[in-house]
Amino acid sequence: MASFQDNLDKAESYLARFRQDGVSNHIDGQSVPAASGKTFETISPVDQSKLADVAHGGAEDIDRAAKAAKAAFGAWRDMEGGERKKILHKVAYAIEARAEEIALVECMDTGQAFRFMSKAALRGAANFRFFADRAPSARDGQSLKAPGQINITTRTPIGPVGLITPWNTPFMLSTWKIAPALAAGCTIVHKPAEFSPLTARLLVEIAEDAGLPKGVWNTVNGFGEDAGKALTEHPDIKAIGFVGESRTGQMILGQGAATLKRVHFELGGKNPVVVFADADLDRAADAALFMIYSLNGERCTSSSRVLIEESVHDAFVAKLAERAAKIKVGHPLDPATVIGPLIHPSHEEKVRSYFEIAQEEGATIATGGEKVTDGDLANGCYVRPTLFTNARASMRIAQEEIFGPVLTAIPFADETEALELANGVDYGLAGYVWTRDMTRALRFTEKMDAGMIWVNSQNVRHLPAPFGGMKDSGIGRDGGDYSFEFYMETKNIALATDDRPIPRLDQE
Ligand code: NAD
Repeated sequence: MASFQDNLDKAESYLARFRQDGVSNHIDGQSVPAASGKTFETISPVDQSKLADVAHGGAEDIDRAAKAAKAAFGAWRDMEGGERKKILHKVAYAIEARAEEIALVECMDTGQAFRFMSKAALRGAANFRFFADRAPSARDGQSLKAPGQINITTRTPIGPVGLITPWNTPFMLSTWKIAPALAAGCTIVHKPAEFSPLTARLLVEIAEDAGLPKGVWNTVNGFGEDAGKALTEHPDIKAIGFVGESRTGQMILGQGAATLKRVHFELGGKNPVVVFADADLDRAADAALFMIYSLNGERCTSSSRVLIEESVHDAFVAKLAERAAKIKVGHPLDPATVIGPLIHPSHEEKVRSYFEIAQEEGATIATGGEKVTDGDLANGCYVRPTLFTNARASMRIAQEEIFGPVLTAIPFADETEALELANGVDYGLAGYVWTRDMTRALRFTEKMDAGMIWVNSQNVRHLPAPFGGMKDSGIGRDGGDYSFEFYMETKNIALATDDRPIPRLDQE
């Protein structure tokens, strides 16, 4: 395995081009600056140093990108699925070939630890492969027999689509949205998050180098209120796939109303891990720790609440606190690091504000609850893995998405109370249940408000399975055929199979 110093040296060589040339937009196969000529700076959360000047796109850039996506749409839509499959497989291979570069750049741009990001490219390539294989059958429909009629359904790609992605694990998330859109036959305009735009730039150039036709994939950088808003309002863009905060989703619904945008939202979460006394407590503890402290807790499916049956509560939180305190916080390129810096000083401030809120609300900080100020880490956005205990469901720390390595523990008396607590938040993205009683697991999961539930496991993804949330956590599902339902229109053609009488209207 590469050493910390190797990683630092290599990261610097990969970042040199961004430091020198900045990050441009990519429209119709061309790298272009923003029409206004404006740029904004992206910084590294490692030490708050500038990484690059980024094109500050706005409505004019979005308009050019949407027109390019519209012009490229017909040929991409009409290309045989088998041809699209070949191109998307080439993209997957090309992603893997640049796995090290993607990992190191992503670490420096987002603060995510190398041990997790070293797999980001493989996961991104897997997303492309999975949907590439489905491109030839994307148009397949059903045959529905009725008396005197056969109904045949087909699917056609909806048109150019806008994809707006957040700053957490941006590479992997972008591939998760873009691969199915392209496999379905849509062309795209991608608006990456302003806090972490570097790997989105790598991704579009990798795809075109691998043979993706110009104009099929366009990338416009910028902020939500200008580039993002213009994309959601553009008349040539037929649908918006959005991943981000619930309140941004609300804004996008409003912005897209005038052009009747189809929307797919993957939003926030406050996901419970429900631990019953009969569970394998050791495995449950490891899973709960993994789901909140890996990826810096900046993960929509993170287990940010742990609900524990009273009889095992004290022993279980003691185990969590002991293990959490030993998790290594450090530079993201150090192979030993588990938790790196949070994405940005403004987000660090938000996460740290909950340390005070917890104390004001009367909860206990069992471990963590502070900024890391050891040596060089003092210059970055580092916080310690944190566990709040003695919390109640009504507290803000038990209701709001903190989006950092911060876990809130709450005891429950019985199954009824566990369900009340699990469902007693505005969100409904993911849930985790730990019990050896399978009848209870089935009864409980049936009533849980969550789009995705794992029983006796952490979040392990199966790409054909539906991914998405209910309540304030989202609209729609991704994964397998669910993605094609969003990116395609279903058309029904009814064919008469006999000469049944046709009603004749009375005539004068
Ligand atoms: P955010 O909502 O602030 O930003 C996401 C994207 O939306 C960015 O590209 C931003 O520029 C853009 N945007 C902001 N305002 C906009 C507007 N008015 N119109 C159009 N675009 C706009 O989210 P974030 O802080 O970048 O990401 C963190 C959030 O994402 C968390 O809430 C997290 O739970 C959520 N998330 C959800 C999932 C999921 O699958 N459910 C996955 C990852 C992240």
